[in-house]
Amino acid sequence: MTESEILMDKTNDLKPKSMKYPVYQPSLTGNEKKYVNECLDSTWISSKGKFLGEFEDKFAKFIGVDYATSVCNGTVAVHLALLALGICEGDEVIVPTFTYIASANPVLVVNAKPVFVDSLEDTWQMNPKDIEAKITDKTKAIIVVHLYGHPCDMDEIMKIAKKHDLYVIEDCAEAIGTKYKGQTVGSFGDIGCFSFFGNKTITCGEGGMVVTNDATLADRLRRYKNQGNAKYREYWNDILGFNYRMTNIQAAIGLAQLEQVETFISKKRQIAQWYMEELKDLPLEFNKEGKDMFHTYWMVSCLVKKANLRDTLREYLKINGIETRPTFYPIHTMPVYVHEFSKHKVAENIALRGMNLPSYPALEHDDVKEICSVIRKFFEEK
Ligand SMILES: *Cc1c(COP(=O)(O)O)cnc(C)c1O
Repeated sequence: MTESEILMDKTNDLKPKSMKYPVYQPSLTGNEKKYVNECLDSTWISSKGKFLGEFEDKFAKFIGVDYATSVCNGTVAVHLALLALGICEGDEVIVPTFTYIASANPVLVVNAKPVFVDSLEDTWQMNPKDIEAKITDKTKAIIVVHLYGHPCDMDEIMKIAKKHDLYVIEDCAEAIGTKYKGQTVGSFGDIGCFSFFGNKTITCGEGGMVVTNDATLADRLRRYKNQGNAKYREYWNDILGFNYRMTNIQAAIGLAQLEQVETFISKKRQIAQWYMEELKDLPLEFNKEGKDMFHTYWMVSCLVKKANLRDTLREYLKINGIETRPTFYPIHTMPVYVHEFSKHKVAENIALRGMNLPSYPALEHDDVKEICSVIRKFFEEK
């Protein structure tokens, strides 16, 4: 190192170096630009236009369902699902505590009560036994979240839902293309919800999709997202609806992304394999693919032995230009929900020891090797 390089290095030590490896960045190297330009050239930039219908049809086909309706983000997708199923005040909805906040908040928005369940130790997904234990005569639905790209135990969950006559909403925001026993998630329950936020497996910037096999539900979803428009008269609004529409520009990007979804998924599976191979002798536990499951590794996630070690490791990686994310804080510990006073041992344990590693499709083997060598150095120095 030259003297000026050493000097620069010292200065840089005072603040984190710019992130060489962000935890996520979208790949926009397909037809995104071409399709967006078509929107601009044709002036179809708002929530009508050919890309919307095409994106919806192709998405429905990809998931293996009859109907898909686009929305402006994944959070409102969950809100619409609850509205379409008539969930309201006095109802209870079962939700995993170990998930992103947007899985639970819409339950409060419709004035229903979220009832949290714990996770399984091996897959980190919701525990079917705990679901059954939490069912009361007020329970109306289960929000099943396929977390980090791993599917939930759908055989067990669908059996419980059938037995107790409950609706199933699948939150597939992190699980586009994930499969359980060969069937794509989002096609098991009454309604499936997807997100196309910038860090999701495919993105529109912001965006979402709601899917179903039920024509009546599909119709309700479309009406609720579109100001409660009646079908029988123009500009007549007979239910309280919203403007939750996606734009043609978003759909143009979404369609271009959907054309590449299989490539993204196989790359993400490859990246996960690289991490697990490089780090296999270190005291790290990965969220591995279960039997008969097809994990899409939205974010490659691992656990360290102790929570305080997680935070020092994340800090060490940050100083070395590697961005990570902590796994989700259990929702029942958040200020809005803390009055529930519930205890969820597994979720609390996993959530504080876990982190997500850089997981975007443009990562190459050498990048993953470099990231892993920094992780290795941390454990050697410790
Ligand atoms: C991203 C995400 C959402 C919400 O999607 P947005 O498009 O950000 O509103 C919902 N649930 C889960 C599990 C998510 O990861």
